[in-house]
This record gives sequence, structure tokens and C-alpha cells, in this order.
Amino acid sequence: MTLPDHAATGGDVPGLDHGPRPAGVPSSGHASRLGDMTFPEAEATAAAGAVLAVPVGSTEQHGPHLPLSTDADLADALCRRLAEERADVVVAPVLAYGASGEHAGFAGTLSIGTEALATLLIELGRSAGETFGRMLIVSAHGGNAEAVARAASKLRAESRDVMAWTPRWTGDAHAGFVETSLQLALDGARVRTERAAAGATEPLDELMPVLRTGGVRAVSGNGVLGDPAGATEAEGKRVLDDLTAGLLAVVARWAGPATTGAPS
Ligand SMILES: [Zn+2]
Repeated sequence: MTLPDHAATGGDVPGLDHGPRPAGVPSSGHASRLGDMTFPEAEATAAAGAVLAVPVGSTEQHGPHLPLSTDADLADALCRRLAEERADVVVAPVLAYGASGEHAGFAGTLSIGTEALATLLIELGRSAGETFGRMLIVSAHGGNAEAVARAASKLRAESRDVMAWTPRWTGDAHAGFVETSLQLALDGARVRTERAAAGATEPLDELMPVLRTGGVRAVSGNGVLGDPAGATEAEGKRVLDDLTAGLLAVVARWAGPATTGAPS
């Protein structure tokens, strides 16, 4: 485990650590979370040019072996990793509800749908814009794509500096080898390895016509699209590193080099 958990980052309250940096500007190398800040700290961080990163996931079934928070966990982890590399990134509380209608019929799935998610992100972006000059949406659930795109284009049309990014990988789509490896890397104790089993392993293109009309339930009884066999923590770390590098590159192109950080 190289990722800090909540306990590990809990001591890194910006402005309370020692050193010459201005209050509210987090030290480099530690993720900073908006929820940990006071309002003057948020104000100082924003004034120094901070980017607000909003992790967006889902609460939806991920087979019999992965927790319902899998997408939210990934979005949050990617934002934290970004903030560890860029001192100008502040991570907003994770939005753990998304558009997961395709997983209806599996217990525990909580979906707010595309309309509500788009509206939520638009209002969140307007509100965030009162503090932060830039907002980054990191959505780790494919079903959120339409809502995220709609919200981002609306906010941009309102002259707000908003970017959306979604992790993409090659390999199986849902609760299979890739997502199981990722969750093993994020928090292996939460994976019910003994329950992992293959689901529908046909390519997504082939499944799509039935998926569109009947949802995941119609193609996979256990909710898995892929096969978790052979998933490892090491593979998950490799994919996480790849995704983090991709996110860092995209943010660097969009926002330039980090504008705040520990003075040298
Ligand atoms: Zn997922």
C-alpha cells in the first residue's frame, strides 16, 4: 500500500504544519482535502491558484467480490494521487452517487440518474467557481459520461474553467481483472477474493445491444463483465500509476505547472 489512508493524511492539515509557506498553502507531497480545511485556509489556497478536483464515482454493484464503492474509491484515489504530485490541487469530498441505471436489479446499487447528476455537477461547479478558478471533474464510472460531459460544457459556456477526465484502461469492463486488481491495490482487505468469479466475458461491443435494453442483469447473473481471475495488487498498482501519469499530463496541459507549493 503506497496510498495514504484517511488516518495517514489526517495530520496534514494545511496551515498547521511548520515552515515558511503561507497559511492555507499545502506542503508538496501530501494530498490536501477541502474537507480538512477551514474557510480562511480554502480562501488562501484558492487565491494562490488552486485547482479543485472533484472525484465522482458511483454506488453500484461490482460483482460478488468488490465493494459497491469501487468507482468512488478509484476516483478519490486518483484525485489524491494528483494532489500528492501537485501542491496546487485541492480534493473535494467524493461524490459517491452517479448514473448507474444499467446496474438496476442488483441489491445496494444507488443511482441518481443522468439528469440529476448533470444538474448536481452544474450547481456544484457554479458554487465552486465562487472560490476556485479551476475545477477538475474526475469520474471513474462510465455511466456518468453523459452527465459529466453535459455539465462540463454548460459550465464552460458560462465562462468557467472546467475540465473533465475519466480513467480508461484496456481490458475487461466491470469488476473483472482490471477493477479487481485496482481494488486490491487500493485496499485489498475489502476484496472478497474467494467469491470472485467470471461473468460475461464477450467483448463489450457484442454485449452492448442487450446491455442497452436489459442492463447488466440481462447479460451477467453475477454482475461481472469480464473475469477477475489472475488479478493482483501489483497489476493494480501498475494500472494506477499509468492512470495517474495520464491524469498528471492532462492537468499539466490544461493548468500548466503547479502554481503553488512549498517554497524552495
Ligand atoms: Zn467500476
